[in-house]
Formats: sequence, C-alpha cells, structure tokens
Amino acid sequence: MEKIKIAVASGNAHKLKEIAEILTDYDFVSMRELGFDGEIDENGSTFKENAFIKAKRVSDEFSMPALADDSGLCVDALGGAPGIYSARFSGGGDRENRLLLLKKLENEKTRTARFKSAVCLRFPDGKTVYGEGACEGRILYSEVGENGFGYDPVFYSDDLEKSFGIASAEEKNAVSHRFRALNDLKSKL
Ligand code: IMP
Repeated sequence: MEKIKIAVASGNAHKLKEIAEILTDYDFVSMRELGFDGEIDENGSTFKENAFIKAKRVSDEFSMPALADDSGLCVDALGGAPGIYSARFSGGGDRENRLLLLKKLENEKTRTARFKSAVCLRFPDGKTVYGEGACEGRILYSEVGENGFGYDPVFYSDDLEKSFGIASAEEKNAVSHRFRALNDLKSKL
C-alpha cells in the first residue's frame, strides 16, 4: 500500500532524517522541496503552540498533512528560560547563546535543566495530534566538547552521564527530547 505523504514544516535535513527513521509508515517531504519559501511567525507562547502554528501553515498551504516540531532549553534557575526563546536568547548565534547562559549561571548552584520538544501533526481536515518529550540534565560550568549544535556543549545529560557536546549523534538521538516527542506522537497514531 502506498504510504501517506506528510510535509515536514522545517528546512532542516537532519530533522527530516530523524523523523523518517522513527515514523517509518509515512513518506516525508520537506516544505522546501514542495516550494515553500515563506517565513512563519512563531508567535505562540509554548512549544506546542509554535509547533501547531508551523504545521497548520504548511498543511493549509499544500492541503496535505504536515508535521512540525519546536524545541528549546528550560533552565530551572532562570524560571524555565530561555524556553521558546532558546534560538534568540542572546541575539547572536549558538556560541553567544551558550556564553550568555554560562554567564547568567556563574554564581548559581541550582543547575538542573531540560531540553523540551513538542511535535504536531496536522491534517487538512483540522485533525491534530501532538507528541511531547524532554531530556533531563544540568548546565555545565564551561563548554565540554564540540559535537551537536545549540546548547549541546553546555548540557550534561543525566541519561548519558556526559555532555551532549562529547556524545555521538547516535547516543544523543537515542535519548533526545525530539526522539521522545516523536515516539509519543507515534504511540497516538
Ligand atoms: P528548534 O526548535 O530546532 O528551532 O530549536 C530551537 C533552539 O533550541 C535551537 O536553536 C537551540 O538553541 C535549542 N535547541 C533545541 N534542541 C536542541 C538540542 O538538541 N541541542 C541543543 N540545542 C537545542
């Protein structure tokens, strides 16, 4: 039987691969391949809302099911920040974001934090299914390793008992917030 085609509301090839490896019953196509080159204003106040905004926009545009994810780092000592603002925390790039986080936590002993991810699959008839996932850890006192992206080098994973910055992609993907959110979604389909 032919697989259902789902648009992925992200231009990130790495995410597309990860999604296709978990949700094997579907055929995924990136929104860029479909010709979507617009900007989506992520103005929601939660990861779930932002995932929904992206999935709905692409699903409406192409009249087909669309999957989107939204993720970020939530730090307890900062009241859950940077959260949905993780990518825009410092106004600079990944390195600036990490250094700002280390600076804000300079004299802080409470270092617990978690990566969170929400995924949303939205069908053209309005049906919507969500998945959520988190991975727990602590913010290190300085960068450890250079693997991954974003906050990985300053995040010590409780599951792996090491920094995501020195974990291999396979190790990280097996415990990641996105992996868990996608599996949560899969269990609801
Ligand atoms: P996005 O949802 O992929 O756009 O991620 C938002 C931001 O959260 C990224 O720019 C990173 O700063 C941070 N982030 C999300 N997931 C990860 C991760 O797995 N490792 C490190 N940083 C992440």
